Amino acid sequence: MSDEHGFATRAIHAGQEADATTGAVVPPIYQVSTYKQDGIGGFRGGYEYSRSANPTRTALEECIAALEGGSRGFAFASGLAGQDCVVRSLLVPGDHVVVPSDAYGGTYRYFNKVARPGGIDHSIAKIGDVDAVRAAIEPGRTKMVWVETPTNPLLGIADIEAIAEVAHEAGAVLVVDNTFATAYLQNPIALGADIVTHSTTKYSGGHSDVVGGAVVTAPEISVPGYGDAEERIAFHQNSIGGVAGPFDSWLTLRGLRTLAIRMERHCDNAERVVDFLTGHEGVAQVFYPGLDTHHNHDVASRQMKRFGGMVSFRMKKGEDAAVKACAAVQLWTLGESLGGVESLIEHPARMTHASVAGTELEVPADLIRLSVGIEDVDDLIADLQEALDIHG
Ligand SMILES: *Cc1c(COP(=O)(O)O)cnc(C)c1O
Repeated sequence: MSDEHGFATRAIHAGQEADATTGAVVPPIYQVSTYKQDGIGGFRGGYEYSRSANPTRTALEECIAALEGGSRGFAFASGLAGQDCVVRSLLVPGDHVVVPSDAYGGTYRYFNKVARPGGIDHSIAKIGDVDAVRAAIEPGRTKMVWVETPTNPLLGIADIEAIAEVAHEAGAVLVVDNTFATAYLQNPIALGADIVTHSTTKYSGGHSDVVGGAVVTAPEISVPGYGDAEERIAFHQNSIGGVAGPFDSWLTLRGLRTLAIRMERHCDNAERVVDFLTGHEGVAQVFYPGLDTHHNHDVASRQMKRFGGMVSFRMKKGEDAAVKACAAVQLWTLGESLGGVESLIEHPARMTHASVAGTELEVPADLIRLSVGIEDVDDLIADLQEALDIHG
């Protein structure tokens, strides 16, 4: 599969040659742990043991690498397993990381309660502000800048190109969590990122039926001391073992094939929902990178194809109204996670971001987060309107 092919073509064909034996047009689920050797060490296609490599997982890893324009992809049992592998592969105790002031709650919990007791310290920076990121870097100690853009749940936008420059000047690698935008809307490697991570649980899988993660390395990592990032991650993926299983890999790959058309529809629907929310008198503020009132709308326009399917908003009447509105909807499903075909609504302060309560990453209590699905948008808006008219 050539890099010249368009996104949808790569999504359907990269890593997905027809099966050599049977001609099966999609990669089969190789539900197997070990492989017959033709004499000791005579591996067929390099397959030895399925923690090290499995053909269904290889198909997914090649596809995601092709979609991100990276040199190599790695598939994990969850987004967090992938993130952990990146941190353990590239950092040692004594190193320092700059992390975003708005991020997936589990990412911050990882840095605060897993990495830090393990000797890897962090500083928090407003990720939408390049100068704040620069100021948070501790020269000589900071080895990694971690960026999520758009952020979860406040839809903050980081300028990937500018932050890549700041990180590289300091001798640090830039990791971008591209879960919200997906490879379809944004390619951080082309903007200077060294590593891209995904929770493929979300849009990449896209059907709320599988948990998974992916890591993609840039073809050239020019930061001194990190040129072998790809080998280090490969070594740690196998040595720690948080890999994606064959069936999960197969489901995620099945999701990726329709990512392009799903994302277009997610964006169409989100834009309509944003229009509705900005016009509703019960709503105090709407967060969406596509709004020209968004603090980094220009950056988002530069680095994203469109603005995605995630929207959040604050209720004028406060926390109680937000909680009640979340419970009043019928068609929207009250639940955590995001990025599936079905629309979800949630209250971050009590649900996805409960783990950051009392930290610098605490989110407003009157905030509602929407994952706008691909249903008929008029139905989605009618349902929201009913809930907001009562509680707004
Ligand atoms: C969900 C999520 C994660 C964690 O992924 P899991 O698959 O749940 O482990 C990381 N980053 C972002 C932005 C997420 O939304």
